[in-house]
Amino acid sequence: MTRLLLVALALVAAACGRSGGTAEIVAYGRVWTGDSANPWAQAVATRGERIVYVGDSAGAAALVGERTQVFAGAFVAPGFGDAHVHFTDGGFQLASVDLRPAKSKQEFIRRLAAHARTRKPGEWIIGGDWDHESWEGAPLPERDWIDSVTPDNPVFVNRLDGHMGLANSAALRAAGISAETRDIAGGIIVRDLAGVPTGMLKDEAMGPVYGAIPAPSAEQVDSALARAMRWAASKGVTSVGSVSAGWDQVAALRRAHAAGHLATRVSIYVPMHDWRAAAETLRVHGPGDDVLRVAGVKAYVDGSLGSTTALLERPYLDDPKSTGLLTTPRDSLASWIGRSDSAGLQVAVHAIGDRANAIVLDIYDSVAATHGARDRRFRVEHAQHLRPQDIARFGALGVIPSMQPYHIADDGRWAWKRIGPELTRTTYPFRSLLDGKATLALGSDWSVAPLDPLLGIKAAVTRQTLDGKNPGGWVPEEKISLEETLRAYTAGVAFANFGERARGVLKVGQLADIVVLDRDLISIPAETIDEVRVLATIMNGRLVFEHHPGR
Ligand SMILES: [Zn+2]
Repeated sequence: MTRLLLVALALVAAACGRSGGTAEIVAYGRVWTGDSANPWAQAVATRGERIVYVGDSAGAAALVGERTQVFAGAFVAPGFGDAHVHFTDGGFQLASVDLRPAKSKQEFIRRLAAHARTRKPGEWIIGGDWDHESWEGAPLPERDWIDSVTPDNPVFVNRLDGHMGLANSAALRAAGISAETRDIAGGIIVRDLAGVPTGMLKDEAMGPVYGAIPAPSAEQVDSALARAMRWAASKGVTSVGSVSAGWDQVAALRRAHAAGHLATRVSIYVPMHDWRAAAETLRVHGPGDDVLRVAGVKAYVDGSLGSTTALLERPYLDDPKSTGLLTTPRDSLASWIGRSDSAGLQVAVHAIGDRANAIVLDIYDSVAATHGARDRRFRVEHAQHLRPQDIARFGALGVIPSMQPYHIADDGRWAWKRIGPELTRTTYPFRSLLDGKATLALGSDWSVAPLDPLLGIKAAVTRQTLDGKNPGGWVPEEKISLEETLRAYTAGVAFANFGERARGVLKVGQLADIVVLDRDLISIPAETIDEVRVLATIMNGRLVFEHHPGR
């Protein structure tokens, strides 16, 4: 290189420095970029909304100016995505009664009683997220347990999967449910031997109670959303797919976006029975931008394994008269999917049982064949228990399995007693789905499960269960590697939301979504991934969370 050229380069570099060439944020650490052409680096830098540098520390140091915010972590990655959350529900849950830690009937009652004392008379108590599988003998709760401790408040507290809930007597009265009420299609009103409702309502039978709960005010939705965004940022989550979102949530998100307050990218999926309104929104407002999009629609085809309402090919081992519930009639589902697809909406369907998944894949196959080739990215939410012959169909049909690894740690404790060893082998089959060339998009299903992606990453890599009974992993053949898991939490989620051109990897020119962690995910034992802390979260080039030691 000539001396003249060196002098010229030095002048250019100096000019860049003077003319605002410094970075706004620089993060150092072992950087996993997710970019296969350049997977590892020592630093990443941002200016405005974008990444301006990915490379070694010396190069990044040259970009540090007086106003640059500098973070030094052990591990740096693209901001985590979460393909499937119930975002405002999560925000409401953060301020509601927490029954998830209740490990017995007595503790369930005690927690609810303590919460009821903090509420005004007449106010509804909702949320809860209890899990009877954590209790000795796993009895379903009944209204008799709680009527005496909640005399002044209607109560409807759901199981953590959202597929059944317990109403107290006041809530049943408000919903008009009594011994005379007839059964509800797609749901179950659990009754005692005399036919009197016990307060336990499953799937569609929860409808009348939800109908009786007063809608939250716009201010309440706004603050739930703000809580959800703060929580997401603290967990390193920079983008979510918010599924089954009501129009009140859409309105709150639009208000927050207009005010410049969104700290999370959100792709919204409204209920599929409302596909006409979704199509109209798309026509009038367009799909949205990189921060907020109305992406598509979501429906349910079955319930959940924990509520014994997932639709199975064979009867439940612990309930031999039942194969679960088809919660949306097949004809309605096929017609909604066809119409939504024609309107250009992305379609996502909740399917847990093997029969449910087969039905959805069949419908997707036939709609795609009828409507012709298009980049439609049909999604199956959960894709939990699959017939062996259906696993390869995801890759072959280009259907995205949108899955939640934390459920393995949780359901893995008891799933075998419902479904038996054969179906267990093809349960959460991450390895087989990737081998079948499916694009895996991971997430949490928050508020059904904790939002924290590090819990999900640990679960996908180790497949250990919460009870410690599967130290080598539950169905260990289906484990995936750390990098595969990280990719499914970043680029995989971006792809599932049609965002992969702008985000999901750390690369110059991409939108700056970055998470900085306090420990190196590569070198620590996988069992300790849940102890890793988020030091900083950057969304769209903006610092949205910073860990303050001692707090
Ligand atoms: Zn969900």
